[in-house]
Amino acid sequence: MRLFFALWPPESVAQALAGQADALVRHYGGKATRKETIHLTLAFLGEVDETLLPATIQAAQVVRGRSFALTIDRLGYWRHNRLLWAGCSSPAEELQILVENLREQLRAVSILCDEKQRFTPHLTLVRKVPDRRGAVGLAAIEPITWLCTSFVLVCSRLASAGSEYSAVAEFSLADG
Ligand code: NAP
Repeated sequence: MRLFFALWPPESVAQALAGQADALVRHYGGKATRKETIHLTLAFLGEVDETLLPATIQAAQVVRGRSFALTIDRLGYWRHNRLLWAGCSSPAEELQILVENLREQLRAVSILCDEKQRFTPHLTLVRKVPDRRGAVGLAAIEPITWLCTSFVLVCSRLASAGSEYSAVAEFSLADG
């Protein structure tokens, strides 16, 4: 099974970001992320043998994260994978701590996640942006803040309509 850990926005935030994604597609082209699949990945595990699912959940259960406010206030474009995304100009310190702690707990039980690149918190809004257009004239966005009180383990499957995600487990963050 293909797994990743993520922060999942509440409906109102997903709605605002989906509106932003539609506006970006009108301007730059590409394929908007569906509202119900908008998320921020904390750690991508990739293909994991199903027998390792209990250990994966247990590792996340010992993570000592604190809830925090996440403010999404910028757009970005990555040419290498032609993604337009929304992110944070000043990510909360608790987010970095959560990611480091989660990865540490996973490593401790020999579950590997992709750590090749520096963690850049982002929510992918548009995929397959026609080359060379995405980087031009990206404006700042009206800040959207959401209180992150939990994170989820998600199973990802490729379906005809795109990726389908299902939450496998949810983990609470302590009051900040
Ligand atoms: P996904 O590949 O399962 O990715 C789920 C989440 O993990 C996304 O937030 C993604 O970040 C992140 N992620 C994926 N690979 C990563 C890596 N190597 N390092 C760090 N983070 C990683 O599902 P998806 O994002 O919906 O699909 C992305 C593309 O992969 C699509 O073009 C899809 O067609 C293709 N794909 C999907 C599957 C599947 O089962 N879902 C299987 C094969 C190929 P980003 O949002 O930054 O991409």
